[in-house]
Amino acid sequence: MIIKKNIDDFAIFGGQPSFKEVLHVGRPNIGNKERLLQRISDVVDRGWLTNSGPCVEELEKGLQELLAVRHCDCMCNATDALQLAMRAMEMSGEVIVPAFTFIATAHAVQWLGFTPVFCDVDPLTHTIDPARVVELITPRTTGIVGVHLWGQPCNIEALEDIAKRHDLKLLFDAAHAFNCSWRGRMIGNFGGAEVFSFHATKFFNTFEGGALATNNEELAWRAQRMRNFGFVGMDRTDALGTNAKMSEASASMGLTNLESLPHFIETNRRNYIAYRRGFEGITGIRMLEYDSAEKRNYQYIVLEIDDSQTVLSRDAIRDIFWAENILARRYFYPGCHRMQPYASNLTNIPGHLPVTEKLAHSVLVLPTGTSVTVDQVEVICGILRLAAARGGDVARRLGAVRTAPRLAAQA
Ligand SMILES: *Cc1c(COP(=O)(O)O)cnc(C)c1O
Repeated sequence: MIIKKNIDDFAIFGGQPSFKEVLHVGRPNIGNKERLLQRISDVVDRGWLTNSGPCVEELEKGLQELLAVRHCDCMCNATDALQLAMRAMEMSGEVIVPAFTFIATAHAVQWLGFTPVFCDVDPLTHTIDPARVVELITPRTTGIVGVHLWGQPCNIEALEDIAKRHDLKLLFDAAHAFNCSWRGRMIGNFGGAEVFSFHATKFFNTFEGGALATNNEELAWRAQRMRNFGFVGMDRTDALGTNAKMSEASASMGLTNLESLPHFIETNRRNYIAYRRGFEGITGIRMLEYDSAEKRNYQYIVLEIDDSQTVLSRDAIRDIFWAENILARRYFYPGCHRMQPYASNLTNIPGHLPVTEKLAHSVLVLPTGTSVTVDQVEVICGILRLAAARGGDVARRLGAVRTAPRLAAQA
């Protein structure tokens, strides 16, 4: 680890990178390896590899207890779980989704043959803006999919109210929000259902995986059947189904990681506090703050770089970090509405999504998780402080003073 004292030492100007090994966003949090291998060994000995085996059953029980929810059914991934949920809820036609989210939220809607209608987000929380949702409702609208981005709950109260008044189904993509709460109640309990992702890069992983949480018996029953081809007995299906089951190997990882959950949270929180201290008071740079009165997983360190106030653009800062082997990531760039197959659809007119447009060009996400130490965080913060303090010189040397990525991308 090399601490940079001068911009001449920056790797982008020919210096040694700060880190020998690349720091990634979303490196997996993995619990006790011996316990994982023991569980997988037991799975192999049992010869029961999938189809609601004992590990999946035990994991579902653990998740239900943790979230204090009646059903939390494990699935092969969150994208399939979203599709199952929407089908089980009988959505159709148009479904309102935020434009600032991972593309899977929109793809899940489109894959079912429905139309995702892109909605703008709140500039502070980055979650779907209820005031904009109302404007997008048409006679064809059947549902809303809110996304608890970065583990911050949507404005659940306003969305539940809209859904009720307009007779719409409400589903939450809670891919980021495992072990998070809203008003003291765990995410998993809201809307018609909520879907978690247990993908390798998420706070809590099962290699690949996800879960559908709900307190609605009928909905849970439908989703359980759908995930196993619609089977209700040995030789009988009673509806259309697919294959969205979680394997026992995945559940073994889930059970093991569940045991380390307090450690994951504490490590992320420690890094988050170090980042917050390290970035304090840099003009034009805001770090997303988590509500300390609620449960959070602190999995995302999110910077907003307002290039009307900084000399260096978000992309220039990213380039500086990359040269130092810090793989800071733009997120949800350039926005779902600008990605295919949606970009070709003229109804998704950019400019109607000013907050999404702005965030897609200002958000930068930094590495954290159990593979990142506080010492490393301090080095990362030091680089940005130095770059910001000498912004004019850095920009001149980069030959890119005040690049305007927004305009460049649209040109
Ligand atoms: C990761 C993610 C998904 C997809 O999850 P998978 O388990 O990989 O299918 C969906 N929505 C959001 C917001 C995500 O971040």
